[in-house]
Amino acid sequence: KSGFIAIIGRPNVGKSTFMNHVIGQKIAIMSDKPQTTRNKIQGVLTHKDAQYIFIDTPGIHKPKHRLGDFMVKIAENTLNEVDAVLFMINADEGYGKGDQFIINRLQRVKSPVFLVINKIDLIHPDDLFPLIEKYKDLYDFEEIIPISALQGNNVNHLLEVLKTHL
Ligand code: GDP
Ligand code: MG
Repeated sequence: KSGFIAIIGRPNVGKSTFMNHVIGQKIAIMSDKPQTTRNKIQGVLTHKDAQYIFIDTPGIHKPKHRLGDFMVKIAENTLNEVDAVLFMINADEGYGKGDQFIINRLQRVKSPVFLVINKIDLIHPDDLFPLIEKYKDLYDFEEIIPISALQGNNVNHLLEVLKTHL
């Protein structure tokens, strides 16, 4: 099994931490290239019988200038070309304007979108359920998976879920 997976989410939700946790092998030939508006391959995960290529998708955030609009277009196109989208949020912060902007962009995305609720180590378990209910109303997510990228909680479950869908 293999596929391309895009990771999106506001800054500081834990995207890089998640990548560092799951990826053993960085793609050297990509890391030498200067940052452009193109998508950056972050790494490859080889997981038992599966291999996934994770893509960092910049430009899905609120544009601050015209170039920003252009990047949003590229980001939307990318999200339609991948096999799955991981939309990561911070359990500790809840729903905000930045998430609203991203969810609006997702309305035109045809790829399956998984909501990853990260940093569950920072909240009381009782606060998780209302958060899930809130996000369920906002978008038809393929699945909603709570994790702690920092502590590694439920990360393997997330990978297993991805595997069953790809
Ligand atoms: P990115 O901007 O989305 O790539 O976010 P980073 O991966 O750089 O993480 C931002 C900050 O959140 C860092 O200080 C991380 O250590 C912290 N962080 C990431 N994941 C978790 C988590 O699951 N729990 C906690 N408590 N902190 C986390
Ligand atoms: Mg990062």
